[in-house]
Amino acid sequence: MTDLALNRVSKNFGGVVAAETVTMAIVPGRITGLIGPNGAGKSTLVNLITGMLPVSSGTISFGARDITTARADEIARLGFARTFQNIRLFKEATVLDNLLIGYHSAQTSPVMANILGLPGARAETRKIKNQAYELLDRFGMTRYADFPAGGLAYGHQRRVEMMRALASAPSVLLLDEPVAGMNDVEAGELGDIFRSLASSGMAILLIEHNIRFVTKLCEYIYVLSNGRIIAEDEPGNIVANPAVIAAYLGD
Ligand code: ADP
Ligand code: MG
Repeated sequence: MTDLALNRVSKNFGGVVAAETVTMAIVPGRITGLIGPNGAGKSTLVNLITGMLPVSSGTISFGARDITTARADEIARLGFARTFQNIRLFKEATVLDNLLIGYHSAQTSPVMANILGLPGARAETRKIKNQAYELLDRFGMTRYADFPAGGLAYGHQRRVEMMRALASAPSVLLLDEPVAGMNDVEAGELGDIFRSLASSGMAILLIEHNIRFVTKLCEYIYVLSNGRIIAEDEPGNIVANPAVIAAYLGD
């Protein structure tokens, strides 16, 4: 079991304290929830974990390995993938090509071998395409494979982003408000996918504003407010926690 652990992680942006001595664990085989009002520092934590931003203090470890100062590409190679709160896709490229870009970030045979058509590269490309079609099928997106990603409805673009993150076969998946703007049916479908990914051993961090959705899916939830963890517990205890209720009513 390779746990992702934040140990007293802090982050300041000038005078703004976006994270203050945050300690949390993200465990394989489990969906860990991270909730809190807008501006609480949730996305910042994902940026710190993935090496997109340096921490101000504290440490981040992955199993026995200290990844506090690891670069974003090193973190990605360790098996971390994320989605963004604001969708980031290659809008002109097809859905399938967006997925293939995701595979290339993890692929063993170098991209140059593919371009040069070296032995092994073609078989690899075929394998990757098959995997991409499996993902499309899993997300009910097969019929959109050849559509430009930017022309899809919002909920479908979110799915493309998730598939692209999954294409690298991550062991840690960080989802920043993946079902924001979706209806309950769409969110429920994705929730089922998250659950099956976790049961296959993936460590998932789920950031979400919809407390009902989070409490249904997560086995453990952290509540962030003004950069601080104000509560952490099992879902049933979180929704009954006065500090949590106050933080939400104040939002
Ligand atoms: P959340 O995702 O919980 O809504 P964020 O992590 O986006 O919160 O933001 C936490 C705080 O940090 C906010 O006050 C935000 O304005 C600030 N912040 C986030 N990213 C940056 C940045 N790159 N530069 C300056 N301030 C930032
Ligand atoms: Mg955010």
